[in-house]
Amino acid sequence: MSKRWMAASDAVNKAFGGVLEEHHPALAKADPEYRVLMVHPPMDKDGMPTGPAITTAGARVAAKVSLIAEKMRPITGGTGERMVDFIIEVDALAWDRMSAKTRQALADHELEHLRVKVDGDGVTKRRDDGAAQLEIIPDDYMLNGFYVVVARWGKDSIEAIGLAMIREEGPQQLFEFEKTAPKAKKDKAA
Ligand SMILES: [Zn+2]
Repeated sequence: MSKRWMAASDAVNKAFGGVLEEHHPALAKADPEYRVLMVHPPMDKDGMPTGPAITTAGARVAAKVSLIAEKMRPITGGTGERMVDFIIEVDALAWDRMSAKTRQALADHELEHLRVKVDGDGVTKRRDDGAAQLEIIPDDYMLNGFYVVVARWGKDSIEAIGLAMIREEGPQQLFEFEKTAPKAKKDKAA
């Protein structure tokens, strides 16, 4: 079975809506129209995944946010007169394995990628239909690499140097949680 996209359940939408209200007041105030889509990976006849549900630059990620292209907005089927501004795709199997807090943290991550555009006076820029203009900002850091390259080059690998830079340049308290954190999970957000 090939990859499938399905509308998120009320519970998933509630998780995203709660994080939007609590941690993204500027975005919440812009009142964007968005959809959360659960993505199921391609599966073989025994129901085993044969590939990732969602990828960014070819690597598997747990979720991804995308703005709807201008030309697609009229056909995205927003509520009433509203057009859909963005979608958030979530790996359905990864979501199932996450704790409630990690689900909220994932929602927080995806929503952090969105910024409401403002003019020089700090006034929200709007489209002709009144919807706030949004843009996507990149992650502060990306962790990527090959185990085999780390094995070959150790501390001289780009992977190791990148990890050291994140530790040194990030806010000092950022990685305090590592002291008490359980073993890291492999699900990443895009
Ligand atoms: Zn991200």
